[in-house]
Amino acid sequence: MRVVKTVAELREAVAAWRRCGERVAFVPTMGNLHAGHYSLLQRARAQCERVVASVFVNPTQFGPNEDFARYPRTPEQDRAGLLAAQCDLLFEPSVEQMYPYGTAAAVGVHVPVITRELDGAARPGHFDGVATVVLRLLNMVQPDVAVFGRKDLQQLMVVRRLVADLALPVQIDAAPTQREADGLAMSSRNQYLDPAQRETAPLLHRQLQSMRGAALDGGDLGRIESDAAAALATAGFKVDYIEFRRAEDLARVAASTRSDLVILAAARLGTTRLIDNIDV
Ligand code: AMP
Repeated sequence: MRVVKTVAELREAVAAWRRCGERVAFVPTMGNLHAGHYSLLQRARAQCERVVASVFVNPTQFGPNEDFARYPRTPEQDRAGLLAAQCDLLFEPSVEQMYPYGTAAAVGVHVPVITRELDGAARPGHFDGVATVVLRLLNMVQPDVAVFGRKDLQQLMVVRRLVADLALPVQIDAAPTQREADGLAMSSRNQYLDPAQRETAPLLHRQLQSMRGAALDGGDLGRIESDAAAALATAGFKVDYIEFRRAEDLARVAASTRSDLVILAAARLGTTRLIDNIDV
């Protein structure tokens, strides 16, 4: 596995593969890799001859009071894991490489509509940062396929819209959410949880499952949402949102809708923010 830090080295490696007619799949990450990330690598591997991963903790997608500084960074462990996952090239850019004119003066991209609600409301500017870094990374790597996780469903929708609206020549592949044995969606942020919080955390996924059951039993969706939010609050969560939405575009739905639904949730345990979603 080659490890490169500059766009020039990245371009040179990808160009050499292209001359041999090889296809390139790309997995962007913020590092501190876990089995969720490696499942994306596996999908990438299955689709193309060559796999590129990136590890970059993107400052522009963190709010001023968020965890950018303390976000877990484990470069050596990640390199070993990526090597074992048969990654061909790891792109590990610096902030200066990604934002040559600085983050404050960076050309940005804004995806409207999808970014206003849910995580967009709870984390103002977050999806502008995501869209901006994803556009840069796709432009740098120029992959045939880029793999994203359904764990971050709203992010996936933002990326799909970005690619469709700007006619970017890349196919977006969505990977299912990988979970711990107790149902907790794998996340680099889970390690912030203390033992008591870790025990409480799987309740978020269990609530989503019982909401799905209640919806399929014909319950009023608004009522199911408020019952779930109350149950999570009782267990010690601070709920940002827990909502039924239309699967296709995350639009709001009437309380009687039963088809093509997803349920999305974000809730904090202490200072740790957990997100999850399931299809109905
Ligand atoms: P991150 O490093 O958190 O920015 O995530 C990088 C990619 O991995 C994103 O496309 C995420 O959606 C995906 N991902 C993170 N956690 C999981 C998980 N538990 N299951 C599947 N994909 C995931």
